[in-house]
Amino acid sequence: MVRKQEIYDAVDEREDDIVEFLREFVAIDTENPPGRNYREGAEFLTDAMADRGYDTETVAVPEDVVADHYPDRSDHERVNVVGRKAGEAEDADGPDVHFTGHFDVVPAGEDWSDDPYDPRVEDGRVYGRGTSDMKSGIAASLFAVDALEAAGVDVRGSVTQSMTVDEETGGFTGLGYLVEEGYVSTENTDYCVYTECFDSSRICLGHRGVLKFHVTARGEKAHGCMAHDGANAVMAMNDFLTRIDEYEDVLHDRTTDLPVTPPESRCADISATMLDAGYSENVIPDRCTATFYRVLVPGETVESAREEIRTLMDEAEAATGHGFDYEEIMFAEPASVPEDCTVARTYTDNILDFYDETEPVVSPGSDDQRFVVNDAGIEECIVYGPGLLDQAHVVDEYVPVEEIVTATKVMAASTADLMGATE
Ligand SMILES: [Zn+2]
Repeated sequence: MVRKQEIYDAVDEREDDIVEFLREFVAIDTENPPGRNYREGAEFLTDAMADRGYDTETVAVPEDVVADHYPDRSDHERVNVVGRKAGEAEDADGPDVHFTGHFDVVPAGEDWSDDPYDPRVEDGRVYGRGTSDMKSGIAASLFAVDALEAAGVDVRGSVTQSMTVDEETGGFTGLGYLVEEGYVSTENTDYCVYTECFDSSRICLGHRGVLKFHVTARGEKAHGCMAHDGANAVMAMNDFLTRIDEYEDVLHDRTTDLPVTPPESRCADISATMLDAGYSENVIPDRCTATFYRVLVPGETVESAREEIRTLMDEAEAATGHGFDYEEIMFAEPASVPEDCTVARTYTDNILDFYDETEPVVSPGSDDQRFVVNDAGIEECIVYGPGLLDQAHVVDEYVPVEEIVTATKVMAASTADLMGATE
């Protein structure tokens, strides 16, 4: 049996190593899109795990699977990494704990004060693209296991770490693919922690879902001076958009009791986000395409959302006499797990070693947690990691070193608790 303080001390001793590891990791530009340097990122992580005694496996996604999801970017290889370490004791029958995180980052863009891929440490913060979202999460789970082993905890059962790509573009060829291939399943996983940046002071229990799609109103071209010969697709779309406006009110009344943060996001929603039509000021347009972003609360399904859209299209068709077409871009089902599941309670207890209070949250967006909860059917799965949500995707992104250290301690202590190794 180990005292928590020994684990915390072992993390503190590693602070400089954690920061150094993170700097090297962030220096590998893994921007997605397009999916740059995944092989190099995967090798860096494979080496890091092999050095620590994990059995590692590189999981490259077959080209045809990549082309299915990302037809424009199938020339970039998609490479994920899985490492597993089993307990050494003869009676190593403890639980199987799985940490997962993504190592792709969103494009840095312009306007940074310094090179986003030459991370610097200043005023207790590490600056660089991916420091918060979410290379520090991967660093934390790796060093958490180092620390608890250094403190004398045998990883009874097993610890698996998966590091995946393409989360920023839907995760289908990252964690989605690993789940599909059985790397995360109820057979090999008792507890799963997705180490995305949600602040070291709280856990995240789930996320809303999303459905992105285009609707096109059809019409007939004509010269503007003989408009009666044509059928104006823009005006047909106007009818459809009016229906979407009313539908939005209905969705806002469809609320959830879950602690979605911010509270304004505790409902379903739809927004028109792009509009495209027309050729010239003197041509009646035969086509008008609007793009929509539909957000789903837990309890809704993507299929029910699709049906509602189809009904609105039918109504607009009947009212205008125009044809309407639907084209889907991407979807993610909502996901959530109970606040009182074991892994949630264990992490909450340990967070309270560092903070006076903590409240679980549910993410307003969607992330890779859904693959584990919905597709693999693992309810013992939370999101917990260092990094500040408001630092994700911004210019001059940073992570406070204190954040990483605290999250690493919580992960180490919680893992030891789940393994039944603490006093
Ligand atoms: Zn992320």
